[in-house]
Amino acid sequence: MRKSPRSHHDSTLDDVLASRLARQHERHRYRRRRTTVGIGPRFQREGCEWLAFCSNDYLGLAGDPRLAEGLAEGARRFGTGGGASHLVCGHSEAHARLEARLAEWTGCQRALLFSSGYQANLGVFSALLGRGDYALHDRFNHASLLDGTRLAGARLMRFAHGDAKDCGQHLAMLDSARHKLVISDGVFSMDGDVADLAALAEQCSRHRAWLMVDDAHGFGVLGANGGGTRQSQGIDPAVVPVLVGTLGKALGTQGAFVAGSDALIEALIQFARPYVYTTSLSPALAWATLTSLDIVRDEPERRDHLFTLVERFRNGAVGLSAFGLHLMPSRTPIQPLVIGSTREGGDNAVAALKLASALEAAGIWCTAIRPPTVPAGTARLRITLSAAHDVADVDRLLEALHDCARRLGSAQESPT
Ligand SMILES: *Cc1c(COP(=O)(O)O)cnc(C)c1O
Repeated sequence: MRKSPRSHHDSTLDDVLASRLARQHERHRYRRRRTTVGIGPRFQREGCEWLAFCSNDYLGLAGDPRLAEGLAEGARRFGTGGGASHLVCGHSEAHARLEARLAEWTGCQRALLFSSGYQANLGVFSALLGRGDYALHDRFNHASLLDGTRLAGARLMRFAHGDAKDCGQHLAMLDSARHKLVISDGVFSMDGDVADLAALAEQCSRHRAWLMVDDAHGFGVLGANGGGTRQSQGIDPAVVPVLVGTLGKALGTQGAFVAGSDALIEALIQFARPYVYTTSLSPALAWATLTSLDIVRDEPERRDHLFTLVERFRNGAVGLSAFGLHLMPSRTPIQPLVIGSTREGGDNAVAALKLASALEAAGIWCTAIRPPTVPAGTARLRITLSAAHDVADVDRLLEALHDCARRLGSAQESPT
């Protein structure tokens, strides 16, 4: 007896997944991991040497021997793993000390550690918002903030990127809503520009909304003591009641924190499920992060060097616009080069991939960022600079970019 053709319903899991994966290929959205050896930005990969310009290790601390020492000491004193959630018996003195230091550093009453920034953001939303509440996002906010909103079941709205006035207009329409949370990245992860926190705070106070800032890319980098976007804009801690920072970027370790009032932190401990139902961050990592905070405070020359590199890169990259590679108005270590005209809206993902592989041939590693991570038509190289780079590294990058752009030029000239 012949079997009837398989219907959609009895396809195997692998069949279903294979066709979804094929679709990703067709759309030039398929992503792969590369296995690295060694410490960035100078990696070995596939038996070759690479100079990377795509990590978020802005201060070059991830490979600092003093952090490795702190990690080893932390592991000896507190164990490599927390062993339990914070509310059971996984909250060690290493965590408590780091939370106290983070509170002091941010000027907030208290801080609470999470295992990652993704979890911290899920935790904040799940604790603060519920059905019927509104989360009003900058259009370019990080994915974890959107996911947190969905997890909380809150209503998601977006305002135009960097546009506090538009934010205010949305808030005005929500005047009768119970709770409204306005959320913005401090430094935007894919564009490198910075939110105007005072303008957002003003709209929030006018419309009785709360302000949350995710400063994953600002901490350690901006501000006189590396205190982040809020510090660099001279804004009082109370103006940003919910402040999120991560430890895996400039601080060179892993994990994240939320800083704010005593009431906020207590509420997160009680109500944030992504905090309650997970093993505590490694206490050894918490211990190492204390060393990292010392370095951020005591070695401002790292930031000075980093911003020297940012200026050098920008000055050297201006001429790339002749080849359809455009700098964005960023003054942070995130220096995206958008491929082609940003106004065309065409699919430039292929051009971004070509440029990235041309750079690879020169031993330079910089990942192409494509939709859906960035809006359609704005595929880019997300170039990031680090204090671990030197001036010669940046010059080598610029030379390779000019060289590759010239060679690919005719193929990817921006349409006129
Ligand atoms: C990286 C990032 C996160 C996630 O932090 P992890 O610690 O890597 O999970 C959250 N928000 C923003 C804006 C980020 O850039």
